[in-house]
Amino acid sequence: MAGKPLAERIRAEVAEEVRSLGHVGLTTVLVGEDPASEIYIGLKQKAAAEAGIEATDVRLPVTVGEDELLAEVARLNAADDVDGLLVQLPLPDHVDEERILAAIEPAKDVDGLHPFNAGELYLGRPRLVPATPIGIMALLNEYRVELDGADAVVIGRSDIVGKPIAHLLLQANATVTICHTHTRDLARATLEADVLVVAAGRPAFVSPDMVKTGAAVVDVGINRTDAGVVGDVDPGVADVAAYFTPVPGGVGPMTIACLLQNAVRCAYIRRRT
Ligand code: NAP
Repeated sequence: MAGKPLAERIRAEVAEEVRSLGHVGLTTVLVGEDPASEIYIGLKQKAAAEAGIEATDVRLPVTVGEDELLAEVARLNAADDVDGLLVQLPLPDHVDEERILAAIEPAKDVDGLHPFNAGELYLGRPRLVPATPIGIMALLNEYRVELDGADAVVIGRSDIVGKPIAHLLLQANATVTICHTHTRDLARATLEADVLVVAAGRPAFVSPDMVKTGAAVVDVGINRTDAGVVGDVDPGVADVAAYFTPVPGGVGPMTIACLLQNAVRCAYIRRRT
């Protein structure tokens, strides 16, 4: 399940919508100089600009105080030309991440991490949902992977991937199991999976003997190793699975494309309210 072709199509559709809307603004806020975060912000900024979105890149020093960051979020909440607002995670230890995310205006919450948007997803009324799970669902749909009645297993329960993808799969009528570090027998669960989504952040830790023949396997992991960027799934799984997302080139490009889609969604939500 290659992500690039679908991601390119989505980005072209986004560019079309931006043209018809006239203006869509996306502001990213990066605190500090974490190298991985800088790469992600660079990719998001570049993709947004290519789609005609007015992308603004706010950089704050790692020493920024929580109140100062809250004041910056309040300023961007009030700025009329900002449709989508994203604060790149992780934040430094002295800043309360939950407080910052809760301060973002829900209609501008392009990452879908505000409690209101997370709650809407939980209640089965997805409004702004994190980009990675949206991208995974779009990929599964593109490759016509049957979800109704399927056994779906998600490894990972983060707010940005594991929990939201589990909810979206549930809403698509899959029977969903969520695994984490306290799961007693991971392989017993994964071997039952028709659809397996792996978001653990552990290089190549899902091996071919953990995968049911013919399953659809989505590898969300991005792990920087001496051998380069690798996923959470051993590439040998491709011999067992019917569908398998590569790393890189699978979920990654979909995340960027769906973030742009979310920025457009923010613009529509803001024009409605
Ligand atoms: P995270 O917040 O660190 O969460 C990892 C989850 O995996 C946790 O719930 C953890 O369980 C579980 N886990 C870790 N090791 C495990 C093990 N050995 N067995 C079972 N469960 C295990 O990570 P995240 O933000 O969700 O990201 C996960 C991976 O996806 C990372 O590699 C990240 O870089 C990547 N990612 C990629 C994209 C993309 O666009 N492709 C987007 C976002 C994230 P506990 O809760 O019990 O600790």
